[in-house]
Amino acid sequence: MNFFLRNARIINLDPPKIDEADIRIIDGIITERGKNLRPKKVDEVVNLSGNYILPGFVNSHTHLYSALSRGMSSPKNAPRNFIEILQKVWWKLDEALDEESIYFSALVGAIEAVKFGTTTLVDHHASPNHIRGSLDLIKNGLSKVGLRGVLCYETTDRGGMKKRDLGLEENERFVTENANNPFFRGTIGGHASFTLCNDSLRKMGELASMYDCGVHVHVAEDKADTLDSMENYNTDIIGRLDDLGVLRKKSIFAHGVHLHQKQLAKVENAGAWMVHNPRSNMNNAVGYAPLNWYGTHSALGTDGFPADMFDEAKFGYFRNAESGHRAEFSRLPMMLNNGQKLASEFFGRPLGTIAKNSPADLVVLEYHSSTPINYQNILGHFLFGMNSAMVQHVMVNGNWIVWNRQLIGIDEEAVMEKAKKVAAKLWKKMKS
Ligand SMILES: [Zn+2]
Repeated sequence: MNFFLRNARIINLDPPKIDEADIRIIDGIITERGKNLRPKKVDEVVNLSGNYILPGFVNSHTHLYSALSRGMSSPKNAPRNFIEILQKVWWKLDEALDEESIYFSALVGAIEAVKFGTTTLVDHHASPNHIRGSLDLIKNGLSKVGLRGVLCYETTDRGGMKKRDLGLEENERFVTENANNPFFRGTIGGHASFTLCNDSLRKMGELASMYDCGVHVHVAEDKADTLDSMENYNTDIIGRLDDLGVLRKKSIFAHGVHLHQKQLAKVENAGAWMVHNPRSNMNNAVGYAPLNWYGTHSALGTDGFPADMFDEAKFGYFRNAESGHRAEFSRLPMMLNNGQKLASEFFGRPLGTIAKNSPADLVVLEYHSSTPINYQNILGHFLFGMNSAMVQHVMVNGNWIVWNRQLIGIDEEAVMEKAKKVAAKLWKKMKS
């Protein structure tokens, strides 16, 4: 299908830019962008009436399996620290996941995401009692909606070496089967340094090296992770991940709350990505990641919260403003924009740029501003004026997935009704 989008204002967050242009899209690719272009006979002309276009957002670290946890009751004895949050909530939930709940959590999470304007999800999945094939269930959920995904399975020693090996196999299978898939790529997933022995981390590093796909792992989310590395391996956590081949180009390190400046610089120099998850860090009270220490190779994730990247950027901005580590005003929008660069590395195509030869992943925003807008203040409008409720249309790979705030081709009400039943079953299973 060919689309000719006219009368739109195109926003770029890093560097901040805004300009008016027409866009021609052929077979999923932006083939022209410029002022006063003329539509061709074969084009379907869409008048965007002065609304704004942004590149589709990327959620650079999330857990779709948590989509069915909204409203779930808290454990009887409230967790007292981060490790107890894992033990009493998330490890109970992931152990209860089965084929049906994995698929529905991905489907529901994808529906939420796209309505917020998020078009690519970098997911980190765990389901210890349904490992083999689990990534295909997530892929199916995302495909039903039409989103892109960079997926991995959370390798861990938590369930013993047999399950660890199944986790490694699942990663390798997905990476190889999707090496040329325009919508999906794989990476090697791992839980965290403190649940992985040297042998496990080394095996993950070897796979990442073999397939040039990086490792996606939680790093220094809580102090317990950095302490474990010092106490049990007598080395700092980044040194350990480096020694075992996990610190490498394309690796995705989530959180980094307890890393110091030299460690963060080492991550950046290796070509790995740091992903900041402000809402999750606040919710788990794990501490504050000092954003002015983060380099330019850092992105933004929601760590299981809904993929509303407007919200994530705002929370990150406010929390940073409150901290003693004030980063520059442009930092959060830059991190959000970096998610598209991260995804582009995996797909080998320029995602997240509204430019000639880029895949057409874009968001149309209905924003009525009461104040002037220009390149100098567009980030202020983004952080303080715009929000996800203004997302009107969303396109992925040249197809409209959301039109006038409605999903195309999916009976959302029916999906949500079924998802409620699946969630109730899942919660019951967790208690038993
Ligand atoms: Zn996480």
